[in-house]
Amino acid sequence: MPDGLNVPPTDGVSAPVKPRLMRQYELVERVKAYDPDANEDLLNRAYVFAMQAHGAQMRASGDPYFSHPLEVAGILTGMKMDSTTIATALLHDTVEDTLASLADIEKQFGPSVARLVDGVTKLSRIEFQNDQAKQAENFRKLVLAMSEDIRVLLVKLADRLHNMRTLHHLKNQDKRRRIARETLDIYAPLAERIGIETMQDELQDLSFAELNPDARNSIIARLNFLRSEGGDVATKVQDELRKVLAATGIVATVEGREKTPYSIWRKMKRKNVAFEQLSDIMAFRILVDSVEQCYQALGVIHSHYPVVPGRFKDYISTPKPNKYQSLHTGIIGPHRQRIEIQIRTNAMHEVAELGVAAHWGYKQGEQRTDGTQYRWLRELLDIVEHAQKPEEFLEHTKLELFQDQVFCFSPKGDLIALPRGATPVDFAYAVHSGVGDCCVGAKVNGRMVPLRTVLHNGDQVEVVTQKGGTPSPAWERFVVSGKARARIRRFVRAQQRTEYVTLGRAILDKLCKQEGLDFGEKPFEAVAKTFQAATFEDLLANIGASLQSPRDVLNAAFPQHRAKTAEKAIPLSEAGMVAPQKGKAHAHPPLALKGLIPGMAIRFARCCHPLPGDAIVGIVATGRGVTIHTLDCETLSSFRDKPERWVDVGWGDAYGKESSMAGRLSIVVTNQPNSLGSLTTIIGKGGGNILNLKITNRTTDFFDILVDVEVKDSAHLMNVIAALRASTAIISVDRTKGR
Ligand code: MN
Repeated sequence: MPDGLNVPPTDGVSAPVKPRLMRQYELVERVKAYDPDANEDLLNRAYVFAMQAHGAQMRASGDPYFSHPLEVAGILTGMKMDSTTIATALLHDTVEDTLASLADIEKQFGPSVARLVDGVTKLSRIEFQNDQAKQAENFRKLVLAMSEDIRVLLVKLADRLHNMRTLHHLKNQDKRRRIARETLDIYAPLAERIGIETMQDELQDLSFAELNPDARNSIIARLNFLRSEGGDVATKVQDELRKVLAATGIVATVEGREKTPYSIWRKMKRKNVAFEQLSDIMAFRILVDSVEQCYQALGVIHSHYPVVPGRFKDYISTPKPNKYQSLHTGIIGPHRQRIEIQIRTNAMHEVAELGVAAHWGYKQGEQRTDGTQYRWLRELLDIVEHAQKPEEFLEHTKLELFQDQVFCFSPKGDLIALPRGATPVDFAYAVHSGVGDCCVGAKVNGRMVPLRTVLHNGDQVEVVTQKGGTPSPAWERFVVSGKARARIRRFVRAQQRTEYVTLGRAILDKLCKQEGLDFGEKPFEAVAKTFQAATFEDLLANIGASLQSPRDVLNAAFPQHRAKTAEKAIPLSEAGMVAPQKGKAHAHPPLALKGLIPGMAIRFARCCHPLPGDAIVGIVATGRGVTIHTLDCETLSSFRDKPERWVDVGWGDAYGKESSMAGRLSIVVTNQPNSLGSLTTIIGKGGGNILNLKITNRTTDFFDILVDVEVKDSAHLMNVIAALRASTAIISVDRTKGR
């Protein structure tokens, strides 16, 4: 192999000689060999820091621990990575496994190295959570999502490669198999996806050696047999091809490459065939200088040998999603055997071997500043986006979907994919709708958090439930998943209906008494259908929701009574239907609300608590006067198609001067001594008068509180809110639209 990656051991039982540690100057020399402008000082300091931090720690192999980060750095020099990446490789285990902190790293090596080390550390923390084979796709996406900078992923892959090379030192077989399984399911496909062929091959083969040594050994035995039987066919084929090309003046490198035992095994499984021919185990490669020469070489090969139909593919004019370019063809070769040939330029070859690393090596390493760092991610996502074949990585997944997702763990280690912006409530409903319904609190990464907390990739979420708990309508404002939203809505609607039925029954009962009639189901049930209600209850619900005039219903149910009272039609207000409830509705005072007919009953909506200064609108409630809402109140949407019920109103001059009104605040405070005390003090100092205070949710760490504060107008309330937000005891304050 032409690059710096080691060839996997082919004898199955590798007993490598103990590697001598690469010296500091050797590492620097290796980097300088491909990057004369390498940051020597950074490399030297990272080397010394890592060596001292790991100190006397040992690997399972008995080697000093420092040999591991050093080998990882070595792998990355083989990929010609920039100094920052090499330094990251040296430091990648210091935060997790030594006393060094991320702050130390940042202080000594600057923010970009610290950011990369942090990325690798976070990736290491999500390993071995559970049986991941079932969730491999989610895990690959999680790893990608967490590798904001592709250098993080490259260091992680190199880390895994070295751990796989030394896997046989681990005594615990279960652990070895789990790591090998994870490598095969997660890391090898990631290497493939970003086009690092050599790393993919080695990761797969090392996993294969652990997971199925018998199969691998028999394939190797068979390979040896074929090789001995065919004599040195491979070399002869190479010589022939070279001669044929040279005769036409094309300067080319011709290589024969043996397929890995794992790729042969995979093909055997897929096609259910044994391998017998050279074409089954060898691929030949022709490397030239220019694209033109690629096609020239192809022409020469095709005119000299019979072409196997259906084998030709032009990945030069149509590169693969991971940027791989090459011409592929199959011919009946010089020794009458089928052979496969790849033709590409040396530059294309570098990309094929190193994938995105070829693009993102030292050449583009150092001059990057904050704004451009995401280009790495964008490039990577670009690759992901154009994956089309089902066998390719991120199958069935579009880029938007992927970007819009966040992946969190349950305490058992199950990985749950949620829409971006998801909260613990979404998580709870994703686990099970019963868990969602009974959810009363949540711990994220071991700490209690408010339920509306937005979750991040890799968060571990523990839902606290209470038997018999019910969904809170307030959740609807922050949940983002369809499942949670649907469940909460259904519950809220059922709850509302119960309220409406009760209210409708009370209204009708009252009206009956007023009219001297007996309230009973029968007469109303008989007319329900006339009012587009399926049942008596539906009719009551419609009355309760102000969708139906109770007077019309009464008149229909008692036609004779209607005739009697027709001449002295009593306005509803006089019939007691809109009698203002104390403190809830008032006949509006002079100069109060502009745009209303004097004497009309008004009430301030309890859904939005309008205050002087707010933009408002009136809604005529059938038989109940006018309800004032703020213009941004969500309730208004249900009146959108009833323009006849909208009344244009405005605040009179008297409001805010002569009267006070209540605004409602939703506050989250820390559950600490005197948190509530400081809350009331701040409101008092701001000139607000607390009318009502209700704790709606209490956890060990937080209180959710609703407070009704009497203020002059909305500007006054904003001042109180600002003062509250300034307090350290208070997590959040919002003017609430809701009960
Ligand atoms: Mn490591």
